[in-house]
Amino acid sequence: MSRDPLIAATQFFGGRVCLDFANTMDWRTSDAPQELIPGYPALLTWCGNRRTLPAAAIGALRARETEPEATAALEQAHALRHEIWNVVEALLHGRPVPLAPLNRRLADVPAQPRLAEEGSAYLYDLPGARLEETLWPVLWSLTALIASDDARRLGSCQADGCGWYFVDESPNRTRVWCSSEVCGNRERARRAYAKRRARPVP
Ligand SMILES: [Zn+2]
Repeated sequence: MSRDPLIAATQFFGGRVCLDFANTMDWRTSDAPQELIPGYPALLTWCGNRRTLPAAAIGALRARETEPEATAALEQAHALRHEIWNVVEALLHGRPVPLAPLNRRLADVPAQPRLAEEGSAYLYDLPGARLEETLWPVLWSLTALIASDDARRLGSCQADGCGWYFVDESPNRTRVWCSSEVCGNRERARRAYAKRRARPVP
């Protein structure tokens, strides 16, 4: 992920919607995590950039982004993100997935709607009638991940402090970075510098 939160918020390296949503806490495993979705408007922007909701739905929800209920929806978004971290950590370490919080959420969510084509993307055809619609595609992505082979191909970035998650789709399951160009390059430079520093002066 990038040092710049504006750039990081548009870097989608997870390979699945739910993992990209989990990655909206930048530098998650560092001493100074950086929140990429600090408010409901930012949540809508994320949905637009990641293309999880139709543009019309985002437009409808934009008109309500300052309602007090939007703050509650944002809190739910952050809570869901935390639950995704718990799920992924459980899968990474071979522990049982905590299903109870997930199933409680599913009980409150309607059945998946029909799909709609928008530009080059296929989206859930949600109307933008409820502020929590922002979370539903994330939740559906998470259930699909848990119930598929993705659950056995998860990884987390090994760069110091990053912690971003991804589905490792490399042939030999050797992916180490969220992005080789971003974290990989930075980490290689950091390690080379540390090595040079450690070398005794002749
Ligand atoms: Zn990374």
